[in-house]
Amino acid sequence: MKIIEVLLITITLSISYIITADYSILYRLSRVTVVNIGLANIILSILGMSFIIYRYYKATEKLNEELRKISEIDGLTGAYNRMFFDQSLKDLVEDILEENKSSSKINFEIAIIDIDDFKRINDIYGHIVGDSVLKKVVEIMKESTSSKDLVCRYGGEEFAILFFKSSRRRVLKAIRDIRVGIEDYEFDFNDKSIKGHVTVSIGLAGFEDFYNNDPLTILNLADQRLYQAKNKGKNKVVSS
Ligand code: GH3
Ligand code: MG
Ligand code: MG
Repeated sequence: MKIIEVLLITITLSISYIITADYSILYRLSRVTVVNIGLANIILSILGMSFIIYRYYKATEKLNEELRKISEIDGLTGAYNRMFFDQSLKDLVEDILEENKSSSKINFEIAIIDIDDFKRINDIYGHIVGDSVLKKVVEIMKESTSSKDLVCRYGGEEFAILFFKSSRRRVLKAIRDIRVGIEDYEFDFNDKSIKGHVTVSIGLAGFEDFYNNDPLTILNLADQRLYQAKNKGKNKVVSS
């Protein structure tokens, strides 16, 4: 389509150029007609070029948007990817340090969520079913959080959520909704409509656990709490 557009514009401009460049034709035309052809030539050139520039601007804009998505979003689940999560956390901590606000005014929390016994689902029902479980789990996480919170696929069957400026009550409710929402959901495990359940373990840490100006301290604590939740028998939240 783009090639045809450019060809049509080029042909139109070439014809008008040939008409004005061929003096034998020009001598037979009135002066007003010649001036009008010249003007039409200029207007056509400007319109043609503007159209091409506009089309390429739009195409570049679309391409940039696609590239942004590829660099920020996990292709399977539609959650943000780990790189985007790490950068967002770093930016958030830098903002906080710059603004030099007291911790009582700032509140953000990180939840690390890991699907329990996920390897078994892959082993029994196959990777495609495993993939569909990952997608549904992200859907439930998005439904249970606000659009401001960042739901990320941290790796494999592990997810991280960054709750911005939240009250602990809201975060604990969202985390509970996620855990219970996943536990209660009936997953389709195969074509013969075998249904089944999946659970997750969750570790939560917040801004009050942040020290040394290092966001990794919060992440590490959330991770330790996740392993406590696993050790307590899975399908649990550990938040303190
Ligand atoms: P635990 O309760 O201790 O977390 O056990 P687990 O089985 O969930 O954890 P483990 O680390 O043993 O296994 C994780 C599995 O996740 C192994 C890997 O094959 C699977 N996995 C990682 N990424 C993907 C993916 O993109 N798709 C699918 N289907 N499976 C994945
Ligand atoms: Mg797991
Ligand atoms: Mg894991």
